[in-house]
Amino acid sequence: MNPTPKNKDKRNDAMEKLVSLAKRRGFIFQGSEIYGGLAGTYDFGPLGVMLKNNITSLWWKRFVDDRDDIYGIDAAILMNQNVWKASGHVATFADPLVEDLKTKKRHRADHLLEDAGIDVRGMSAQAMDALIKEKKILSPDGNTLGDVRQFNMMFKTNVGPSADDDSITYLRPETAGGMFVNFKNVLDTFHPKLPFGLAQIGKAFRNEIAPRDFIFRLRELAQMEIEYFVKPSDWDKYFEHFRLQMHEFISKDLGLSGEKVHELEIADVDRAHYSKRTIDFEFDFPFGRKELYGLAYRTDFDLRQHSTASGVDLSYFDEETKERFIPHCIEPSFGLERTLLAVLANAYQEDSLGAEAGDEGKGEVRVYLKFAPKVAPIKVAVFPLLKNKPILVDKAREVYMMIKKDLVENCGVAASSIVFDDNGNIGKRYRRQDEVGTPYCVTVDFETVENVDPQTGPTVTLRDRDSGKQERITLPVLTERLRSTFKRS
Ligand code: ATP
Repeated sequence: MNPTPKNKDKRNDAMEKLVSLAKRRGFIFQGSEIYGGLAGTYDFGPLGVMLKNNITSLWWKRFVDDRDDIYGIDAAILMNQNVWKASGHVATFADPLVEDLKTKKRHRADHLLEDAGIDVRGMSAQAMDALIKEKKILSPDGNTLGDVRQFNMMFKTNVGPSADDDSITYLRPETAGGMFVNFKNVLDTFHPKLPFGLAQIGKAFRNEIAPRDFIFRLRELAQMEIEYFVKPSDWDKYFEHFRLQMHEFISKDLGLSGEKVHELEIADVDRAHYSKRTIDFEFDFPFGRKELYGLAYRTDFDLRQHSTASGVDLSYFDEETKERFIPHCIEPSFGLERTLLAVLANAYQEDSLGAEAGDEGKGEVRVYLKFAPKVAPIKVAVFPLLKNKPILVDKAREVYMMIKKDLVENCGVAASSIVFDDNGNIGKRYRRQDEVGTPYCVTVDFETVENVDPQTGPTVTLRDRDSGKQERITLPVLTERLRSTFKRS
């Protein structure tokens, strides 16, 4: 569907709010901002890093730690150029580029055609060129466009002091290559039986023609990928297994709303020739439905290519059947920043919560991030009601230390995810914590220190982010509540 100007404005508005919140609260900054930025790069602030760490550790836990058939690796970003020749990236990792003949700005030809309501699936660069000319499609600035050509997206560089052809290498455009070249290393050192997989989280680089939509399309990105090796006849069983696992990661770990996630079966004409099946997992981002993750059955293409090109045998010997063959591969592929953007967009909420318990600004719009507790960068914030009353501050510090120790020891949360805050009035502190998606705020007030039941001990207030409701509870009840929310399942 082509966006109407009205719903396009709404989408822009939603994105602007998200970008502004991400910056204002220290999640994401423009890359090299004080020098005017560098297109397609972003820097992650303290809360952005915490969010990333939570996402990667949930991913690693599900796909590596909690199973015994997937091995983690961390391969070098710079690899021998022959890796990228064998994988086909040097010849074909390209997007269709078209230039505005007046401004010289470069655009993705497929995106311009899509914006004009044309379905480009399966279309070659030549066909796009012909259509742009036939339909007299102009650049976004209203100028004539040049010829469409293929632009290779790999960042090229030289290794060592000489800049000749032999020293050429590339910043890896995906993490997958590092796993295929380590297949034999893992096979020889751990002797796994099929099926087994390799998993890796790391940076990848793509010289995108038109980076856009905040952190959706980046030039420097991070991926979380798995290459899962199977017997050829087993491929559909494990494709289905990972399809379900990906949904579980999306809903159970990340807490994304199921109705915003859609599977798109990639048609034959759009799949790489070696892929027998590919599903894109799409997400309803504020700017439209776009690819979040991919799941592909890559046959034995990669191991076969690398085996032929390197001259090293990458086959597998099945002890039971006494057969030697090249394993086939299922590849679930996840972009870290796209995950982060989906998590942020999914969590963004506005309501008009009133002035509960000293909260200011009754009737004003409240912005909050409804993160799943596992994903939230800050889990609990502890406040003294007043910062100039040492009796409250001391007790609040004591409660803060108690919660931190307990949740670190019993739930494995990061120590830095429990914070102490006495800055500004209590209403402002609630608003601040709402904006960064802190599930719980604990406040120590006069009741805590003055009205202590000898049987049950002091009480504090526990405020729930989503409802804004506060309840007075004892410390043992508080500990139980927090443990059950943040326990590692
Ligand atoms: P797109 O069609 O959006 O360019 P792709 O199909 O080229 O993506 P893959 O090569 O399948 O993407 O990469 C696997 C995953 O890496 C994607 O599903 C996405 O999550 C992430 N990804 C790919 N390119 C980018 C990018 N430029 N910026 C951020 N994340 C990306």
